[in-house]
Amino acid sequence: MDRNEKIIKNDNKSCYKTSADDISETDESDTEIKKAFAKKDKRLIEEGYITVIAGPCAIESMEQLDTIAKIVKESGLSFLRAGAYKPRTSPYSFQGLEHKGLEILQEIGNKYGLYTTTEVTDAETVEEVAKYVDVLQIGTRNMSNFALLKKVGIVANKYNRKVILKRGWAATIKEWLLAVEYITSRGDAEVILCERGIRTFEPYTRFTLDLSAVPVIKKLSKLSIIIDPSHAVGQSDLVIPMSRAAIAVGADGLIVEIHNEPEKALCDGQQALDTKQTQEMLHQVSGIAAMLGKKIR
Ligand code: PEP
Ligand code: MN
Repeated sequence: MDRNEKIIKNDNKSCYKTSADDISETDESDTEIKKAFAKKDKRLIEEGYITVIAGPCAIESMEQLDTIAKIVKESGLSFLRAGAYKPRTSPYSFQGLEHKGLEILQEIGNKYGLYTTTEVTDAETVEEVAKYVDVLQIGTRNMSNFALLKKVGIVANKYNRKVILKRGWAATIKEWLLAVEYITSRGDAEVILCERGIRTFEPYTRFTLDLSAVPVIKKLSKLSIIIDPSHAVGQSDLVIPMSRAAIAVGADGLIVEIHNEPEKALCDGQQALDTKQTQEMLHQVSGIAAMLGKKIR
């Protein structure tokens, strides 16, 4: 076993744990904050279950998120995803509702009793985002933004938040696992990995979903891993088969983009499942999960 393999076998904890001085950005009042934010503590990943996180790419309005959250709730799921700060490839694309989006997400999450996750895009807004959602998401474009990773580690620890760390689309598994350590070296945050497709020479799909990452991560670490089939394939009709495959290969969950009116979505509508497709996806995925003795939730 080489040295790096040893490092990543060491669970969610860093071997490179920095000195106490370096990580002591928490004080007594931080502990109080942590307690206050501890009430919502449903486990994101649980033995025997496949967690399906669903929702739109972006929060567009109160009405839009309300409609989609209702679909999520009525489908028996408990985690709602939705972007407030959108890191778009083009600066001319819709950039998200930003702070207003966070307020909408919190209100709708509370209304339907759903746990919420949204992306944090820069170190300056991490704390603001942590006050509004249950799970902080780090997107593919930021997996190697080490200043952001460190800040997320500190803030997630302070507010008792879990973190979903997406794989950089050009990152190796080793680089991805070392990125986890940037977060965990700053506190106790639970990090869940998310494979969302990597860039290959194949242009037909938006990215190439690296399903082999699931057994490799299980072999190298004790971390949980979920799959984002939506950003990987980029086309709604391919999302269901890849969701089935993700469960079959041993993923602990899915994060899927859904929309009540995909053709009108301000962001990523081409890959969003509509209501009927969402039901079909859950039906098919439940069948695969049942064969593995797991339930969808
Ligand atoms: C998203 O989940 O909305 C997103 C932008 O994903 P990714 O970072 O994987 O592109
Ligand atoms: Mn998207």
